[in-house]
Amino acid sequence: MKQVGFFKSIHFKFVLIYVLLILIAMQIIGVYFVQRIEKQLVTNFSESLNERVDLLAYNLEQEMIIERDEKMPTLEVKVQSILTDFLEDADVRVIDKNSRVIGTTNINNQQLIGRRITDIPVKQALVAGFRDPGKVLIDQQSGHRMLVLTVPIKSGTNVLGVITLEASMESVYDQLKQINNIFVKGTVIALSITALLGIFLAQTITRPLSDMRKQALEMTKGNFTRKVKIYGYDEIGQLGITFNNLTKRLQEAQATTEGERRKLSSVLAYMTDGVIATDRKGRIILINDPAAEMLNVPRETVLAESVLTVLGIEDEYSLEQIIEDVDSLTLDFSTSQKPYILKVSFSVIQKETGLVNGLIAVLYDVTEQEKIEEERREFVANVSHELRTPLTTMRSYLEALAEGAWQDQEIAPRFLDVTQTETERMIRLVNDLLQLSKLDSKDYRFIKDWVHFPSYFNRIIDRFELTKNQNVTFIRNIPNQETFVEMDEDKITQVLDNIISNALKYSPEGGKIEFDLSMVNEESIKVCVTDQGVGIPKENINNVFDRFYRVDKARTRKLGGTGLGLAIAKEMVNAHGGEIWVESEEGIGTTICFTLPLDKDFKDDWE
Ligand code: ATP
Ligand code: MG
Repeated sequence: MKQVGFFKSIHFKFVLIYVLLILIAMQIIGVYFVQRIEKQLVTNFSESLNERVDLLAYNLEQEMIIERDEKMPTLEVKVQSILTDFLEDADVRVIDKNSRVIGTTNINNQQLIGRRITDIPVKQALVAGFRDPGKVLIDQQSGHRMLVLTVPIKSGTNVLGVITLEASMESVYDQLKQINNIFVKGTVIALSITALLGIFLAQTITRPLSDMRKQALEMTKGNFTRKVKIYGYDEIGQLGITFNNLTKRLQEAQATTEGERRKLSSVLAYMTDGVIATDRKGRIILINDPAAEMLNVPRETVLAESVLTVLGIEDEYSLEQIIEDVDSLTLDFSTSQKPYILKVSFSVIQKETGLVNGLIAVLYDVTEQEKIEEERREFVANVSHELRTPLTTMRSYLEALAEGAWQDQEIAPRFLDVTQTETERMIRLVNDLLQLSKLDSKDYRFIKDWVHFPSYFNRIIDRFELTKNQNVTFIRNIPNQETFVEMDEDKITQVLDNIISNALKYSPEGGKIEFDLSMVNEESIKVCVTDQGVGIPKENINNVFDRFYRVDKARTRKLGGTGLGLAIAKEMVNAHGGEIWVESEEGIGTTICFTLPLDKDFKDDWE
């Protein structure tokens, strides 16, 4: 904020107004007072002069009316002696009735005596006995103000002569000057005191004000700890108290808002769903980390961009459509390598007036969900397909039988045989499915037992060797160790059955099947079955454990497979805490291995 300039400050204005007020008051008083004094002084001066001149006139009259003889001094000498007694600082002239000067107080001007004076006031006084009580003239030589009196010397109504008097009034004006000086000094002192008082008064106002200003500035910076100092309980003090209260309230409000904001941002941050908020034009004003991550955009740069652009739907939808019609959208960002599907739900933020104020978009990663849904659909299709095939076969055979084939001694048993095989196939399929569903829902209980694995393995291979009707050689690498495994024998038998029957199924005539048993880090056993069959193409290797997956559907169906064997095997091995995997090369052969963990404690006990 800008600093207030000195001439605009309250300080300056206060002092100026105060000083001006006092100055005007002093001037008015001064002018009036000095005028009155001047008038009074001048009046006093002229009155006292008049009185004295009257006395002089009386004395002269007495001298003039007496009869003079030879022995007596002349009138001129008498007049001169009276004048000498009279005044020291005034220029007095005595003029007889013939307008001749007969005496003067001015020693330097004695040559005036005997001269005729023809001034108008003198004439008026001589002729009409007119008295001029005083007029102020300025002396040409000295520049002094002079009071000039013209007084007739009368005896009854007879004018015997005239007295003219010129007295300098400088003493009066000197006095006035002194008074003026006192006045000016007083004014200066009064002004200085006023200025000081003004400064002090302005300070009592501006100090709390500038304190409040400072506090307001601090408040804009978010500092609410500062307090305005209260200097008194006048209006400004009250304002300060109110200001402090306001600060407190603001601080509380700020704390509440801040708390809410923090809550909101931590809620947003810890949400697994992505959240985007926009203004009413659809520009992003808030985006949380999960949303930025899901959309793979940097959080900072995306702010203020259109939500439609960020979601990549600006070509298909307009903001109005989203606000009015669209509740949610599924966005497919899948690439050939990775499926990636997002669901976006929109909700509109409205004001009380109903005006749209913004939009909230919530993003969920539904890739997994979609995958499961897809798998479910595939699974249902597979199951239906797998059941329909034997059922249609059976229907056609049964139709043939019903149409009369049952009477045919040769065909009937063969047809019945086929329907029986198909029925068994279906039962097997349904059993497999049941088993998988149990494994899926973890609704199974293993009947675990300690099994001496080498002899158990040999027993199973023996069974296959006895029943096989192919020319395949079995090679066993089974060290006869004291290896005991705690397992559900039936379930592992099922796993081995499937692996070995697969190996047999895909083995060529005269091929070899190898059986290996080894230890892994003394912690688990590894069982591998290797054949020299067709092998599995590289790209399909990861799928062989999927349900209903068969590399070559047509061929394997002929071989009687449903594609559930390895899926079940995997579930079972995993449920025992082991791993199962396949290594294969097309045209060379396939190895399927699995591990089962050993119980070390048990081994120790045994030893
Ligand atoms: P089922 O075991 O349910 O009777 P299946 O044998 O076809 O049917 P799986 O045991 O799950 O199903 O095997 C899945 C697929 O893996 C087979 O269809 C086959 O294509 C491939 N496969 C499995 N073992 C071998 C093998 N040893 N050699 C070549 N391909 C194999
Ligand atoms: Mg199989």
